[in-house]
Amino acid sequence: MVLTFPAEATNEPITYNLIKEYDVMINILNADVTHGREGNLLIEMSGKEANVNEALVYLESKQIQISPVVKTILFSESQCIHCGACASVCFSGALEMDPASRELVFTPEKCIACELCIKACPLQLFELNFGVN
Ligand code: SF4
Ligand code: SF4
Repeated sequence: MVLTFPAEATNEPITYNLIKEYDVMINILNADVTHGREGNLLIEMSGKEANVNEALVYLESKQIQISPVVKTILFSESQCIHCGACASVCFSGALEMDPASRELVFTPEKCIACELCIKACPLQLFELNFGVN
């Protein structure tokens, strides 16, 4: 999710409070926060559902805007050499080798954005995309 901080919240230890008071794990993926000015944080938050819900209520109480983000995988398909390395790590079945044509078939609807193909492709044809819901 993207957290948008009002200026008055940028000098508060918000992420520290989330971890300490609500027992959630925070993974900061990108940050654009300047003391005394509005800022944005791109984070992943995980933990028990009740704790995450309480953490969200806490964020809202601080007038922090919460925008859910959808992770998707971008694939530069035209450069693919059909080596199959990505299909061998894709357990969701989004990447499969067609047995007849021996070409890679990508089915985005099956992708769970686990990111394993990003490391697997020798040509680095996959990248992570974040879109605000
Ligand atoms: S991100 Fe994961 S599920 Fe999606 S295509 Fe890559 S390996 Fe498959
Ligand atoms: S690993 Fe890269 S080059 Fe190989 S099949 Fe997958 S996308 Fe194509």
